[in-house]
Amino acid sequence: MSGSTGFQCVPRASAILLLGSLLLACVSPALGISMRAEKGEPPLIITIRIHDYTHVPPETLARAEAVTSEILRGAGVSIVWVDCNVAVPVEQRQPACARPMGPLDFVLNFVDRIQPLSPNLREIAMGVAAVPPDGSQAYLAYLSIHQAAGAAQEYATPLEQVLGLAAAHEIGHLLLGENAHSSSGLMKASWGAGELKLGSLGNLIFTAEQSWRIRSNLLQRDRKGSYLFAEIRTANAR
Ligand SMILES: [Zn+2]
Repeated sequence: MSGSTGFQCVPRASAILLLGSLLLACVSPALGISMRAEKGEPPLIITIRIHDYTHVPPETLARAEAVTSEILRGAGVSIVWVDCNVAVPVEQRQPACARPMGPLDFVLNFVDRIQPLSPNLREIAMGVAAVPPDGSQAYLAYLSIHQAAGAAQEYATPLEQVLGLAAAHEIGHLLLGENAHSSSGLMKASWGAGELKLGSLGNLIFTAEQSWRIRSNLLQRDRKGSYLFAEIRTANAR
């Protein structure tokens, strides 16, 4: 498989082992609520706090956020980004960084590598999202800057593009619950040059059904639950 795929998520069975749970969230479409993003309908608004432990250049971060925002906008979701500089004391960060988390608040941590988070994550993992097993609020994801930079170099793709696409993929895990992966597109488990090319054209996006599930999730979130992990990783490093 060397060189044939750029990214791959672990099988869900492996992810389940991380926290020992056998259950994953399942978002039911049969709720009698119209979740379709109708034309002219105001988008749902979420807040994503970026905790950058790797000092990504501000312009790179801003462009990555723009990539992610555009993808989520296509699903009917607007993102308010809050960049929380972890290099300064908490009390000196912008107030939104210290505000209690709400059901539409998310945290995306940029770290060098995510493998140390769990022995069940492989060194080549590029991203991980903590997904509650009971369908309750998922809000936390990590991206490995080391792996993203490696993929950017291998596929001659700007780092901000890789980061933005990977962030959207992980946010997808947070909002789609069980069965988040699809056979193609943004939520495909394995990415390669083809997916990154689609991404560069703005065509690596959520499907209509995924967009529906995302909006459904956001309209039904609550605050309870614990978490298990699903990861996305570079597969070419096997
Ligand atoms: Zn994934």
